[in-house]
Formats: sequence, C-alpha cells, structure tokens
Amino acid sequence: MADLMTLRDAADVLGVDVVTLVHIIEVGDTVPTPPVPKDYKDIVFTADDIERFKTEVSRRRFLDFKSDYADVYVHDEGPGARGLEFGPGWLGILKEFCDSLREFQNAGYRARLRWGKEKFGALRLFTDHTSELAAYIGERRGIAYGKSLRTCQECGELARLRFGHSICLTLCDRHKHLVGEPNPERDGIILDVEAWSRKQREGEPG
Ligand SMILES: [Zn+2]
Repeated sequence: MADLMTLRDAADVLGVDVVTLVHIIEVGDTVPTPPVPKDYKDIVFTADDIERFKTEVSRRRFLDFKSDYADVYVHDEGPGARGLEFGPGWLGILKEFCDSLREFQNAGYRARLRWGKEKFGALRLFTDHTSELAAYIGERRGIAYGKSLRTCQECGELARLRFGHSICLTLCDRHKHLVGEPNPERDGIILDVEAWSRKQREGEPG
C-alpha cells in the first residue's frame, strides 16, 4: 500500500488547521480515498487526495477572486484584521457585489470591500466607501444578504436557512446535514433571523 498521510500531517502540508480539514470532509464533496473512519483522528489520505484537497482549500480561500478583484477587495489589515469568513458557495454573490463596487470606482468614487462573514446563515459585507454612496451600497448589501439566505454556503445551489440545535446555516438538501439534527421549533419556521427578531420586538407589548 502506498504511503498514507495522517490528518495532522495532511493539515500541515495543506496549511490549514485540523478543524478546517475535517469540515471539508464533513461537507462530503471532497473526501479522502481510504474509507473515512468513525473516529476522525484516524482519517488518512493518499498523495493524490492531497492534490485534490489543495484545489479545494484554494477555492475556500477565494484565491482566484482575490487576484481578479484586487482593485476592489482591499484586504483588511492591522490587529484583529478579518478576511472572507464564509463558504465558497457564496462566491457568485460576492462577485456580483464587487462588480457594483467596481462600477462606483469607475465612476470616480471610493468603494472597496474590506471583509465579510457569515452570521445566522446570512452574508454580511463590510466596505470602505465615500459617504455619498452609503444608500447605494446599503441597497447592494441588502441584495447580497437576501440572496445568501437562498443560496447554499457550501455549493451555491438553491437553499434555505437550516436550524440545528446549536447552529443555523443556509444549506441545500445535499448539505443540510452540516447543522446536525434539525430543531423542529425553528427549522423551516425561521428563514431569516434578523427579520424574525425584528418581528418579535415589534410584537412585544408597549
Ligand atoms: Zn449545497
């Protein structure tokens, strides 16, 4: 049998932490060739697997996006700097948002993306822009937010917010297992946490 690499070694070679690597395997689209054991610490990889995982890690780091949109995405810097902290399924939404920032730039305005994250299954984008653009960019941000709640964060397919017992994420049928057992009191009932919270507050007596 060819040399097999352990989870720890594979994570080192790929330059990711073990948690990230296990997440990729849990997503289920990129998995090692040897059967995945129940105990994740016993996972092993072949040399070919490592090559496939390299491609997947680059995709999750948005490497192509970062070079194609270097004029619009100016990486956050300094202590506490943040990155693009969400799944690769939202790449299309990200590009669309940045295309509009680019249009503003071409018209002579300052409009850049600094960072973004997933929160309650939705995409939040943080920009640096001239104050005149606040309303326009707010509108684009709202569009991206709405689309993210209908787009699987892992693969970009049609999705909805999925509620587990400890986590909620926007996922398609194929990836809904990532939130674990659905929470029947919330799953399929709350589809936008922000809108739902607003309604709860409005519903409060006087
Ligand atoms: Zn999916």
